[in-house]
Amino acid sequence: MSEKTIFEKILEGSIPSDKVYEDEDVFAFRDIDPQAPVHVLVVPKVKTRSLATIKKMDNDSIARFIKGISTVATNLGLDKEGYRVVLNHGKYGQQSVEYIHAHILGGRQMSWPPG
Ligand code: 5GP
Repeated sequence: MSEKTIFEKILEGSIPSDKVYEDEDVFAFRDIDPQAPVHVLVVPKVKTRSLATIKKMDNDSIARFIKGISTVATNLGLDKEGYRVVLNHGKYGQQSVEYIHAHILGGRQMSWPPG
């Protein structure tokens, strides 16, 4: 059996996190190394590795993950000024945790292109 990722440990509560939102589909918590004034990670409770594997998830779970991201951003008060959502995959994407997660970044002006 493969070792649990840090996010599975956060989901089961064996590692503490600064939770900002939870419902039956998603769990959201503040990133330990924030890259913006608001930096929250949203994970679906149904595990998949990344965007590369999300197509194996059922459509309802994917839809609830996306809706969860939107709900968390709204609850954080980010809708008016805007925000960025990032899903990293693999080496070039600099994914470091092998459990899909959306970064919600807000509270400052973003730039483009990203680094
Ligand atoms: P990735 O690079 O995989 O897209 O993003 C992983 C994110 O998880 C990073 O931004 C990193 O700071 C965050 N992270 C890693 N370990 C922990 C942890 O134990 N707690 C929290 N809250 N965030 C973590």
